[in-house]
Amino acid sequence: MERKEALPLRKLYYDPSSIGRLVYPHAVWRSRRGILLTFDDGPDPASTPEILSLLERKGISAVFFCTGANLLKSPEVARETLNRGHTLGIHGYDHRNMLIMKKADILGQISRTGEVFRDIGIEQPKYFRPPFGLISPFMIGSLQKFGVQTVLWSMLTCDYLNDSNIVKFSIRNYLNLESLVVFHDRPSNLETTLSGIDYLTETAAVKKIKIGIPAECLN
Ligand SMILES: [Zn+2]
Repeated sequence: MERKEALPLRKLYYDPSSIGRLVYPHAVWRSRRGILLTFDDGPDPASTPEILSLLERKGISAVFFCTGANLLKSPEVARETLNRGHTLGIHGYDHRNMLIMKKADILGQISRTGEVFRDIGIEQPKYFRPPFGLISPFMIGSLQKFGVQTVLWSMLTCDYLNDSNIVKFSIRNYLNLESLVVFHDRPSNLETTLSGIDYLTETAAVKKIKIGIPAECLN
């Protein structure tokens, strides 16, 4: 079913950056050079490799925000992601809401995940995305002092709802040349995510918007 025009509140949900940038001025909200694709919640051997293959066919490099717990389970998937030219980021250790978490616990979540990265032979990434995008605005500045750059988004595809009409709605209405797009490399929504990537690249081609590379988009 086709969705009707976006209501103002719905726009904030899919495209939160205008208000978000006021609340979290130190976070990255938009891509600087073309569309940037990001994937949260992996690595997962049942979904990440399929996404890697599709991205390779399309010549796209992306950022994958990993949880420490998933890295421990599937280190080879993370290495493969890196070997294929993608960028890795930290998504907390066990995907807990950090909004009212103590500073020491947030730092613990990040350093514990960094340790897992190092244990599997990968340098600790500097990019960080809090689970659910929730963290105290004051923490973002503190994290910067530790060399951790918080990356949020300007476009939610809502692929986790596993409804490709919603993903298409979001892409059709909100994709632009600064889009920092969130997908999820989770098995539960794999088909929706794969078709969403297809739809996004078709839409970008029609709108004549380039898909960028992480180092330039986040610089
Ligand atoms: Zn997540």
